[in-house]
Amino acid sequence: MKNDLAAADDNVVHKMAQKILERLGLAKQVITGMKEAALPENEQERLDFLHGMHVLDTPIEERFERITRLVCTTLDVPIAAISLVDGTRQWFKSVQGINASETPRSIAFCAHTILDNGIMVVPDATKDDRFYNNPLVQGDPNIRSYVGCPIFTSNKIKVGTLCAIDTKERNFTKDQLNTLRDLTRIAESELAIDAFSEAGQQLLMETNEVKRSAMIDPLSKVWNRAGIEILLKKEWEIAKRKESALSLIFFDIDDFKKINDTHGHNTGDDVIRKVSRAIIASIRSCDSIGRWGGDKFLAVLPTCAPSDLRCILGNIDEAVNSSEMDDRFNILRKNIYTVSMGAACLVPDGSHSIETLIKNADRAMYRAKKSGKGKFELYI
Ligand code: GH3
Ligand code: MG
Repeated sequence: MKNDLAAADDNVVHKMAQKILERLGLAKQVITGMKEAALPENEQERLDFLHGMHVLDTPIEERFERITRLVCTTLDVPIAAISLVDGTRQWFKSVQGINASETPRSIAFCAHTILDNGIMVVPDATKDDRFYNNPLVQGDPNIRSYVGCPIFTSNKIKVGTLCAIDTKERNFTKDQLNTLRDLTRIAESELAIDAFSEAGQQLLMETNEVKRSAMIDPLSKVWNRAGIEILLKKEWEIAKRKESALSLIFFDIDDFKKINDTHGHNTGDDVIRKVSRAIIASIRSCDSIGRWGGDKFLAVLPTCAPSDLRCILGNIDEAVNSSEMDDRFNILRKNIYTVSMGAACLVPDGSHSIETLIKNADRAMYRAKKSGKGKFELYI
């Protein structure tokens, strides 16, 4: 009992000391022994530029998912990320192998990588002064080896890294380092492009990171209900002005309650992540997707007429309901779930409303459910 109290006291004193040191702006290494990365010389300019890119706290995008998947395959690692080093955090534009969206900058390997211009290799983090007592090494995800390449902007500012992580100590071959460098250059080109629709870009320009993060669903990393509703309104106004077609697709996972009950809630969460990734992999980059609630998603497709919509629906159906999906980075077996889809299309004019379009897509989805699930229906 006495020992317990002494330990509790120690804990309180430790926390208080840590708070005081943090307030004084002193590095945590004083207490934990961990070495935090120094700040780059151009830190303020770097942060201003990163924030001006309007990329932080944006939804998951297939063009970046492809890059991190390729890092996993070509470097044969379980974890890969496009990490953007913000003021107090590293935020992942794309990450494979872990579900987090960010970690504190104080423990980020990538905060060290951006101090240099070249690739940083850590063959065994437990033998590296900077990382041996890092919580990401001592605990989940148990990093042992790391390789990261700085991501430069066109004006030579390092905003983050493309990195690969393994849970066993190892070295990386020259070919693997060259591939990582090549993929980093591709990530840089992609970061310089605005691939979102006109409405999507408007939304990004009107919001800051704090506002945007409140519009992203943390589980699926796509827009949440509030985010997709704002986008839908913007797309509607643009379609009205341009007299162009606007399409919606509702997705609802079939018998999802049964998946949760049979395989557990964590597997249910994995299905939600997997379905959202399959959807973004098969829609166009100008289309947006949001989690409408529970196991239901909504995709908004600007300038998409019924003939295109039928073709896109076929692609999505194949990606979401096919048994050929790559399950390498997922614990799930194939065919554990199916998804029903319903779509509708309108050219907005004075006689139609967004509510009509939503209702039509919803009706089509329930027709798909009624006709046996794992199918799609188009409202006509
Ligand atoms: P149907 O085929 O008609 O769509 O049936 P269903 O079982 O998919 O639909 P229902 O609406 O009865 O169940 C949806 C379930 O989704 C109920 C809820 O517990 C679960 N759910 C909602 N949000 C989450 C989540 O974030 N994670 C997990 N694992 N389950 C969730
Ligand atoms: Mg369902």
